[in-house]
Amino acid sequence: AKRNVLITGCSSGIGLALAVKMAKDEQKRFKVYATMRNLAKKEALEEAAGRRLGKTLEIKQLDVCDEQSIKTCVNSIPDRRIDVLVSNAGMGLIGPIECQTIDEMKTVMDTNFFGLVRLLKEILPDMKRRKSGHIVIISSVMGIQGILFNDVYAASKFAVEGFCESLAIQALKFKLQLSLIEPGPVITEFERKVFEDGMKMDLSAADEETAEMFTNIYLKNYKQIFQSLGQSAEDVAEHTVKIILAENPPFRHQTNTLYTPMTTLKYADPNGDLPIDIFYKMVFHHDKIFSASLNFIKLLRWRSRKSFDLGKPSQ
Ligand code: NAD
Repeated sequence: AKRNVLITGCSSGIGLALAVKMAKDEQKRFKVYATMRNLAKKEALEEAAGRRLGKTLEIKQLDVCDEQSIKTCVNSIPDRRIDVLVSNAGMGLIGPIECQTIDEMKTVMDTNFFGLVRLLKEILPDMKRRKSGHIVIISSVMGIQGILFNDVYAASKFAVEGFCESLAIQALKFKLQLSLIEPGPVITEFERKVFEDGMKMDLSAADEETAEMFTNIYLKNYKQIFQSLGQSAEDVAEHTVKIILAENPPFRHQTNTLYTPMTTLKYADPNGDLPIDIFYKMVFHHDKIFSASLNFIKLLRWRSRKSFDLGKPSQ
């Protein structure tokens, strides 16, 4: 039998790529319920799904910030059976906290963290009763490590990770699986929106040094970081499908091997100073080392693409 998969935030990015990839599975192992907050934005997904639309893929409305919309959506699925839940909907926020309102911050927490909680309050009891189900959460490397000017976004993803670590223990008792997918930078709408909002930000509430740091260091390097380290949404979708199909899916999975040296620092020093120190040096003291390492990464990418194109491993 097909596995029913419900994915949130499918109007763009990782959600769209994942929904289409699973709907087009050659072995037809999935029935995808691709959900989005605003159905007026369904055109891109419809187009990408092509002939799978109405067959292995159905589009439904679901706003992770609205309990009723979650209930209505789940009730519309035959027997309310969801075998795989992919909690993907999310939003970013960058900049100095002095320039952000508490309401803006609450919206990020409400979407990224309480969005997941609302989904599970509706879906977890059914999974427990059936003693089967896989909960897959698109978290971030920022769920394990903070980054300059991403304070509230990182906090929202840390909240997700802490919540899931606690829940995973209970889930094991009910034979449920839980997996956190942790991408590094991914080139999607998210990145574009976050950057544009950063560029438009009113920095008058910040002191000169902070405003300067945000504009001339953070925003200046932003595009370069995404260009050098960024993955495509399709790439993250491919990793996610592998985790969904794995016999023993891991609790955590990082999708970007170029980024893993950074997250490893977290576990290398129990005092927690090492990653902070390295990030500090990269950002404020060794601008040259920073660009040199980005160039090195670009070279690695170019080499791996080249060997991939040739269909043989690199020498
Ligand atoms: P995206 O902006 O293309 O996709 C996010 C989707 O979530 C959008 O379609 C948006 O409409 C939807 N959404 C927002 N609020 C919603 C709500 N209340 N209800 C339902 N849907 C809602 O960006 P993306 O990069 O594909 O992001 C997907 C996930 O990946 C997010 O959780 C994000 O935090 C995570 N992520 C992204 C990156 C990155 O660099 N792009 C890196 C790591 C993790």
